[in-house]
Amino acid sequence: MKVKVAVNGYGTIGKRVADAVSKQDDMELVGVTKTKPDFEAKLAAKKYSLYSAIPEGVERFEKAGINIKGDINDLLSKVDVVVDCSPGKVGAENKPKYEKVGVKAVFQGGEKKDVAEVSFNSLSNYEDAFGKDFVRVVSCNTTGLARIISVIRGVIEIGKVRAMLIRRVVDPKEDKKGLVNGIMPDPIHLPSHHADDVKTVLPDINIVTTAFKVPTTLMHLHSLSFEIKSGEVKVDDVIDALKEEPRIMLISSSEGFTSTAKIIEYARELRMRYDLFENVVWEDSISIYDGELFVIQAIHQEAIVIPENIDAIRAMFEMADKAESISKTNKSLGIF
Ligand code: NAD
Repeated sequence: MKVKVAVNGYGTIGKRVADAVSKQDDMELVGVTKTKPDFEAKLAAKKYSLYSAIPEGVERFEKAGINIKGDINDLLSKVDVVVDCSPGKVGAENKPKYEKVGVKAVFQGGEKKDVAEVSFNSLSNYEDAFGKDFVRVVSCNTTGLARIISVIRGVIEIGKVRAMLIRRVVDPKEDKKGLVNGIMPDPIHLPSHHADDVKTVLPDINIVTTAFKVPTTLMHLHSLSFEIKSGEVKVDDVIDALKEEPRIMLISSSEGFTSTAKIIEYARELRMRYDLFENVVWEDSISIYDGELFVIQAIHQEAIVIPENIDAIRAMFEMADKAESISKTNKSLGIF
């Protein structure tokens, strides 16, 4: 039996989750929602069954000539789980609708952690989502941090983790806001919230983060340092462990990957919408000095959380163990 899935909010994350769900052999995408009859709604209605996210909004879609199947309540009556991909904090407003009809929900990283019973990252705490009704997939930056920490802690005993996050200011489609010039500490008062967010999935990690916004839309960049608490560690041991994890992609500046611009140029050839579901780690950045391991990675904010949304659904319905779910998701999305 396939789990019936709805996507509420067909934006940057929602359209990618919808495509990923429709590729799973144990899930059925029943429908997606939009708030407005815009060009994205027109495209969504061509690919999937479209519903109005706002109950009184159906008529607007009909007037615009868009094939609309009903409203969010109609959609919720047909599914087992909804992946809420509405803008940050709106998911919490939507939650009572899901509770009312007894539909499980996956929320995104723009929600506060208390929207769900558990925050989620596949490599860090898959089992914590077992059988849960409400799960929050952590944000793009937190997913990138949690994944690499989870792999590196398999090789070294980690003391402190320190991370500087250089964040894309907005996504490529944004035309209402953005930082045209300058580098903005965000926040000025340190640390940034990302460290606490990592602890929602890796509670025992000693991590401090700082974050800056820069005028780019392509990717985030993380400069990381891991204190090596004890033992002899070689750079090659770390590289081997990262190579073994499909959700980490190793690249090298010697191959021409001199910046995030080059990574995205590569991804344009590799995948639809140049989606990079993996942490992209510069192999030649990996180094050890004075008892600390240093790593630089880039994160494609629009795509990185998509595999985690799929795994979260499997964990909530106890459909597969961690290794099986990750492997199925990876295969379906072309992550090797
Ligand atoms: P988005 O603005 O691209 O898409 C949100 C969609 O939700 C839009 O289509 C909007 O019309 C729709 N919407 C608005 N109000 C709604 C409502 N009441 N009910 C249902 N849908 C509604 O936003 P996004 O970038 O896809 O972000 C969605 C969530 O994912 C946020 O929590 C965000 O923090 C998180 N997230 C975003 C990124 C990213 O880089 N874009 C990365 C990771 C996580």
